[in-house]
Amino acid sequence: MSGKHWPPGTQCVTKHDHTKPKPRELAFRKGDMVTIIEAVEGKGWYRVRHNETGQEGLLAASALRERGAIRADPKLSLMPWFHGKISGLEAVQELQPPEDGLFLVRESVRHPGDYVLCVSFGKEVIHYRVVHEENTLSIDSQQYFSNLIDMIEHYMNEQGAICTKLVKPKPKSGMKSAEEELAKAGWLLNLKHLTLGDRIGQGEFGDVLQGEYMGQRVAVKNIKCDVTAQAFLAETAAMTKVRHKNLVCLLGVILHNGLYIVMEFMSKGNLVNFLRTRGRALVPTQQLLLFALDVAQGMDYLESKKLVHRDLAARNILISEENVAKVSDFGLARVNPKGADATLLPVKWTAPEALKHNKFSSKSDVWSYGILLWEIFSFGRAPYPKLALKEVTELLEQGYRMDPPEGCPPTIYALMKSCWELEPGKRPSFKKLTEKLQKELKHLRDI
Ligand code: ADP
Ligand code: MG
Repeated sequence: MSGKHWPPGTQCVTKHDHTKPKPRELAFRKGDMVTIIEAVEGKGWYRVRHNETGQEGLLAASALRERGAIRADPKLSLMPWFHGKISGLEAVQELQPPEDGLFLVRESVRHPGDYVLCVSFGKEVIHYRVVHEENTLSIDSQQYFSNLIDMIEHYMNEQGAICTKLVKPKPKSGMKSAEEELAKAGWLLNLKHLTLGDRIGQGEFGDVLQGEYMGQRVAVKNIKCDVTAQAFLAETAAMTKVRHKNLVCLLGVILHNGLYIVMEFMSKGNLVNFLRTRGRALVPTQQLLLFALDVAQGMDYLESKKLVHRDLAARNILISEENVAKVSDFGLARVNPKGADATLLPVKWTAPEALKHNKFSSKSDVWSYGILLWEIFSFGRAPYPKLALKEVTELLEQGYRMDPPEGCPPTIYALMKSCWELEPGKRPSFKKLTEKLQKELKHLRDI
């Protein structure tokens, strides 16, 4: 087991039960989640903290596996019990043999827009009409819900006005429960350990709140709409595949109130605000170069994992307490499905071939990186300040490029321009950009 090396903070899942621990050892059950605190020298043991109980103790590496990545799988559903448009009769057949509390949800045939909750109870199936009115759902006109996920969660905990508490979802054939898969892989967090605080940001799809999870400060993105949450789920999968010091780290998700995405907390907010509020007087060139280098390194790693960001921009770079810049919103950028609405693209950041032919690649990310460099060295100005969106694409094809920001070192301006080659193949790789920035930093230190 000597091959394993897990840094502090790594999330692991236990492979079997260990209920009679020796002194200093930790007791656990198969499938429990623990956090690595540190390796115990040369022994193949780790000191860990149990994620449920908070207890600390020793644990053999052989009893642990690191949590696995989630595959973006269209069969993975936040609502596996949702069967779409099937008839009442078909629903009854789905719920055989009878079992108290076995349930599914279908779309109402008779009342388009409404749903029906079908519950097996005492050898019968009872159908409850779920009235959909003004963006709320209700069975009894007393309890209202903003989406089906919340409604089901509620009736699994409380019987309320229906015949029995919901016990067991009947999945639509071929569908897998996202909740189960996330739990198995180790990405499902426990709502009871989460405390929510102030709102720190507003995203396109929901609020971002500050919070605490088992003693760690976290940021929580809440996506309330069930359809959007389902789309996000597929994209959150990208975040489970990566781990790098310059990528915002996903701690896990909670299925409550739609979807909570729990991330590490970046106390200094996004890079645009960071630069705008401090400005030239407070942020030296070396710091700008360090931010640029951080982003290039994070992107080099993403490229190595064959992940394309599509929305690289200073607003999506977050700054930690220690002034480390990290890329966020990766993978999430693809929430707008293929053939995405071109009017939603961040035109001033997007490479011409991506805008015109939907050709997104690491090289189109490099184009955006050039714009990001310009944003950094102009202390958070909006790119192409005097141009309307419509003008930008045409001018670019005629060879127009932005001027260097005031006080920008010529070598950095040359880097920007190399990112803005019309032909994607002529742009540098993120590895090359990393090397050039390192050289530039060294040069700055030497003088
Ligand atoms: P969207 O891309 O949907 O618009 P973002 O993920 O960019 O939403 O978040 C919006 C804002 O919330 C960010 O600009 C930032 O200020 C804040 N924010 C997001 N994630 C974090 C985080 N992990 N730590 C601190 N602040 C964050
Ligand atoms: Mg964003």
